[in-house]
Amino acid sequence: MGLGAGRLLATGIVLLSIAWPASAQSPSPRLALNEDVAEVGVAAAEGSALSGDVSLKEGIAPEAGEGAPAVAGPIVAREARVVGDGARTRFIMDLSGPAAVSVFMLDEPYRVVVDLPEMHFELPAETGKSGKGLVSAFRYGLISAGKSRIVLDATGPVAVDKAFVLPAEKGQPARVVVDLVRSTRTAFLETLRVSRDRMNEAQKAEALPGPAPNDGKLRIVLDPGHGGIDSGAIAKSGTLEKHIVLAFANQLKEKLAANPRYEVTMTRTDDSFMPLRGRVQFARQKHADLFVSIHADSFSGADIRGATVYTLSERASDRMAASIAESENKSDILAGVDVPEDTDEVSDILIDLARRETKNFAVVFARNVIKELKPDVRLFKRPHQQAGFMVLKAPDVPSALVELGYLSNPDDEKLLTSAEWRDKTAVAISRAIDEFFRSRVADMAASGPVTPQVGEP
Ligand SMILES: [Zn+2]
Repeated sequence: MGLGAGRLLATGIVLLSIAWPASAQSPSPRLALNEDVAEVGVAAAEGSALSGDVSLKEGIAPEAGEGAPAVAGPIVAREARVVGDGARTRFIMDLSGPAAVSVFMLDEPYRVVVDLPEMHFELPAETGKSGKGLVSAFRYGLISAGKSRIVLDATGPVAVDKAFVLPAEKGQPARVVVDLVRSTRTAFLETLRVSRDRMNEAQKAEALPGPAPNDGKLRIVLDPGHGGIDSGAIAKSGTLEKHIVLAFANQLKEKLAANPRYEVTMTRTDDSFMPLRGRVQFARQKHADLFVSIHADSFSGADIRGATVYTLSERASDRMAASIAESENKSDILAGVDVPEDTDEVSDILIDLARRETKNFAVVFARNVIKELKPDVRLFKRPHQQAGFMVLKAPDVPSALVELGYLSNPDDEKLLTSAEWRDKTAVAISRAIDEFFRSRVADMAASGPVTPQVGEP
């Protein structure tokens, strides 16, 4: 997936990583949880932000040297559960083999994030919808190539007392165990502050986009929404938005490939997750001339249907647009991605100008899309809407978000799941893209480059 997800996700706040194996025997006297798990040890990462007042000290004696035992095929997770109470809560997930894990925390809302190598999650559908004690719910899924994630929603400030991996023994499967204890907001924020400082250091090292290659190509980035741990909208029948939009993006890419001037890339090409900011960064790194985010959301009220094109505006065009943007912007929270303070404030006049011009181009593109869809594809009654979508915030890349339809509407769902309908819609959008570039290329020929070159915001 190019330069995107892996690198950006690597900047998460890692508080402790638990290497496999860690085999010192260390039954904890303080564990009064009814799940009887004999601990085999915890290895805290070097410089762990938890090394202070949190009692990771007991029983920490990692054995050096050995690597992870070989397991045939990908690890499979088959069951997960939460036990304990409001003072002390244990999360357990059964695995087909041992795996290295790392754990970090996020606030607003309080979450504990457990990262693991890529694995198959074959758990009952209801798993994680409700929790117990300090955990109100949890989610799991692929987060990027080679990496899976579990996100525990905490009921308040918590501390990770222990996190460890057990091998299969005595008829029990291998398990990931995370013990949480109640903490204070002050202590929680202090832990976050330390790890955020480290993350900011890591982010400084991120490469700025180099100069755009002067090859006359028109660069288009297609952005199939959601992915991996974040399924997006789910239709009553179980159809997932993330699958529909990836299928559509592939079809659209194929249409665009007919034009040799286009260079088309996608923010994801498989069922993995990319954070919203990562999608914006991806477009900027690719020197995109156009960014098209593709969605098929749901909205309360099954009568809402039809394609809608959204462009960026701080003020939403109406309540529905505001609500769609709000739910889209929650993607990172669902996936346990740290969302840095909004660094979006425009201090640089150049960026401001670029942004205004970029927005104008985006609006032109949105109108093209609506015009091309109209003859063939059912549109929402007000098909061009504006709202504060995070994914549309690149200051120098004209960006639009196309809701192909709404999975909450059964008739729309029928269309969205039809390859034929998607094909027809992809043809219409590719025509809109052609038209957008025809007019832009004419402008550029007349007046030189139209997009001012700007630095990083
Ligand atoms: Zn969506």
